[in-house]
Amino acid sequence: PAPVPHPVVVDTSTGDTSNVPFDPRKPSAAFVILCRNDDLSKMLMTLQTLESTFNSKPHNRYPYVFLNDDEFSQRFRTRIRAAIPADVKVEFGRVEGEAWGMPSWIDRPKAEASWKKASHGGMPYGGSESYRNMCRFQSGYFFRHPLVLPYRYYWRVEPDVRFLCDLEDFDPFRYMRDHGKKYGYVLSLHEIRSTVKTLWVHVRKWYQQNPQYLHDNNAINFITDRKEMGYSMCHFWSNFEIADMELWRSEAYLSFFEYLDKQGGFYYERWGDAPVHSIAAALMLDKNEIHYFDNVGYMHAPFLHCPKDPPEKQNRCWCTHETSLIYDDNHWSCRYDWDAIFGKDPERERARFNE
Ligand code: GDP
Ligand code: MN
Repeated sequence: PAPVPHPVVVDTSTGDTSNVPFDPRKPSAAFVILCRNDDLSKMLMTLQTLESTFNSKPHNRYPYVFLNDDEFSQRFRTRIRAAIPADVKVEFGRVEGEAWGMPSWIDRPKAEASWKKASHGGMPYGGSESYRNMCRFQSGYFFRHPLVLPYRYYWRVEPDVRFLCDLEDFDPFRYMRDHGKKYGYVLSLHEIRSTVKTLWVHVRKWYQQNPQYLHDNNAINFITDRKEMGYSMCHFWSNFEIADMELWRSEAYLSFFEYLDKQGGFYYERWGDAPVHSIAAALMLDKNEIHYFDNVGYMHAPFLHCPKDPPEKQNRCWCTHETSLIYDDNHWSCRYDWDAIFGKDPERERARFNE
C-alpha cells in the first residue's frame, strides 16, 4: 500500500532533516540486525511479529539493515526481501576488518586457555570465539558500520525474538526523539558474574581518569551495589535496544570502548555488549534519558515481558502479564532496581506488579 500523506515532521532533536536518508517526515532510524544465513527461518518468524505489530503501519515502514560477518546468501536475501513490504528499504552488509575478530594486542594462547576453562566451568558460550567477536562488535562497531552510519536511531532485533503487543499508533522512534530519550530497553537482568570478573575494576579506572564524561544526574546507583561500590550485575538486556547512536558515537563512549577493548576482557573473559552498553548509558546519560518501554510486549527466550496495564489505545497483546511474572519478575530481574533509583520502594513496586 502507498504511504498515507501526513505533515512534514522535522527531526526536533537535530533541528534539521539533512541526515534523514529515507523519509524526511520521520526520525532517522532503522532496524539493525546482526545474524547468519542459518538464522533465516527464525528471522522470518521474528519479522512477522515486528511487521504486524509495528512496521507495516503506513506511518512507520522503517528500513532494515542486516549485517553478517559472512556474505549473506542469495536465498537469505531473496526470502527476507520477500517477507518485508516492497516499499520498505532493506540492505544487506558485511562486517569486516577491525570490527570483527581479535585485535592484535590479544594473546591468543592466553585467550584460548581461558575459553577452555570457562567452557568446563559451564559458562554459556564460555568456549566460543565467535560469540566474543559478536559481543565486541555490538559494543564498539555496529554504529559505525557504513550502512548504519546514515541513521541516528536504531532498534536492535535478533532472530527468534517475538513482539507480542500491537503498538497501534505508538512509534518508539518518535517517542525517543520527541522526549529526548537516548536509550530504551524492555528487560533488565543480572549478569552472570563469571563473565565480567574484572569489568568493573576497569570501568572505575576509566571514569576516575575521565570524570568529565560522567553525567551529574546519572544512573550509577542502578549499576553499583551501594555498600562495596562494585558492579550490581544489573544490565539492560541488549537483544532489544532502541537508542540514539549519538550516545555510542560520542567522544565519551568511544574513549570508554577503546579503553575496555585494550584491557582484553572481551576475549580473556566474556564481557557482553549488554553490560558494556548499560554501564556506559548509566554513567554518561541523565537517568531521565533512559526509557523503560513497559508497553512493548517482548520475548527472547527464556525471558518475556508483557505489560500489566496496556494503555488504552494499545490494547492488543498476544501474551498475559501473569506469564511475564514467571520470567520478568524473578530473581534474575533488575526491574525493581531500576524503580529504586527513582526513589520508589522496590518491595511496593513488586507487590503492585503482582497484585
Ligand atoms: P544470546 O542472545 O546471548 O543467546 O546470543 P545470540 O546467539 O542470540 O547472538 C546475539 C546476536 O548476534 C543474534 O542476533 C545473532 O544472530 C548474532 N550472532 C551471534 N554470533 C554471530 C556470528 O558469529 N555471526 C553473525 N553474523 N551473527 C552472530
Ligand atoms: Mn539472542
